[in-house]
Amino acid sequence: MIGVTILGATGSIGLSTLDVLARHPERYQAVALTAHSQVERMVELCQRHRPRYAVMAEAGAAERLRVALQAVAPEIEVLAGVAGLEQVAALPEVAYVMAAIVGAAGLTPTLAAARAGKRVLLANKEALVMSGALFMEEVRRSGAELLPIDSEHNAIFQCMPPRLSGLEQMGVSRILLTASGGPFRDASDEQLATVTPEQAVAHPNWSMGRKISVDSATLMNKGLEVIEACWLFDAPVERIEVVVHPQSVIHSMVQYIDGSVLAQLGNPDMRTPIAHALAWPERIDAGVAPLDLFSVARLDFRPPDLARFPCLALAFQAMRVGDGASTILNAANELAVEAFLARQIAFTDIPRVIENTLSDIPLRPVPDLPTVLAVDAEARARARHHVADCSQRFL
Ligand code: NAD
Ligand code: MG
Repeated sequence: MIGVTILGATGSIGLSTLDVLARHPERYQAVALTAHSQVERMVELCQRHRPRYAVMAEAGAAERLRVALQAVAPEIEVLAGVAGLEQVAALPEVAYVMAAIVGAAGLTPTLAAARAGKRVLLANKEALVMSGALFMEEVRRSGAELLPIDSEHNAIFQCMPPRLSGLEQMGVSRILLTASGGPFRDASDEQLATVTPEQAVAHPNWSMGRKISVDSATLMNKGLEVIEACWLFDAPVERIEVVVHPQSVIHSMVQYIDGSVLAQLGNPDMRTPIAHALAWPERIDAGVAPLDLFSVARLDFRPPDLARFPCLALAFQAMRVGDGASTILNAANELAVEAFLARQIAFTDIPRVIENTLSDIPLRPVPDLPTVLAVDAEARARARHHVADCSQRFL
């Protein structure tokens, strides 16, 4: 029996993970579930999945959960705060940790799992974007297994040969990262300027949390994924090409020096990469409908429009310059997306806030956690200032 911790159990990825685990009760046991503050949903999950630990990041929510579980599942131990998240990421009875907290909040618990040498199923791309060098170093040092959950990176992983390392040894010439293009793929500049939060979170192909849905609409999600791919596959950013593929059936491709291109296809359902990473190198049922190529009928491809979607260009640029630029990019993006969802700034202000924040802060290397967190905090403070500027014009 494999013990699993799910960081971010109440979210879109967390729930899909629980769905896959529940299909294989003889194989996996959810040992710990964590959430930010959704007590009611956590109570339901605890009743259904009977973990040994339940963690609420917010102390008040942990207290409410403790009271609620007294009546229905008093044997479950309730922990609170970042310390609780880190504790369940490193439990001896846990072998696999699903890292599915959204944003920078996921960094320290995900790092704790990596340091403890777990199989880390990485959905929380922001953790890697803000601390790539440090994160990969911790994985190497502890011997943790890092398996990508992001559908594109999971696809790339599946298209690469096992047991070889480095693009040169594998004979990889390029990584082709596919993008749906998001809900505003064909929108004009004028339309982009008046996008509402409701429009931005309605993704045509995938059902996801609010933050990543906005990121998909600005193409920052693809930008974060470019950076994620560089770290996961030890690839220079020049080797990564973004390919807009509206159907989201090919989840990414790898091009080889002999002319071969390998692709991974499937219905857009995150349970496929989740099941793949859980069972790897074996395969298990994910509950996903088989792909029907006749109903897909055609696959289209086009290059991304960096002028209409400047977030993608900013991410490429941040990876190119290195030295904490990705940490700043990620922090400013989180702040700007929050402000957009709160109707304080326009959709097209998001790249503006990020670009201004990047040009405010002198770059320095971020080799350790205190430096990563300091740069992240500095970027948030500067971004807050630029949000206030944009918001005066917007309101
Ligand atoms: P979501 O918003 O649905 O869920 C986020 C989870 O994180 C929730 O359980 C929430 O309680 C928890 N959380 C939020 N803030 C927290 C905090 N401060 N401290 C502790 N826990 C906190 O998000 P999601 O769509 O499931 O995405 C999760 C991660 O997976 C993101 O990094 C996203 O980029 C990545 N991802 C998601 C998808 C997808 O299809 N949803 C695909 C690829 C990658
Ligand atoms: Mg993705």
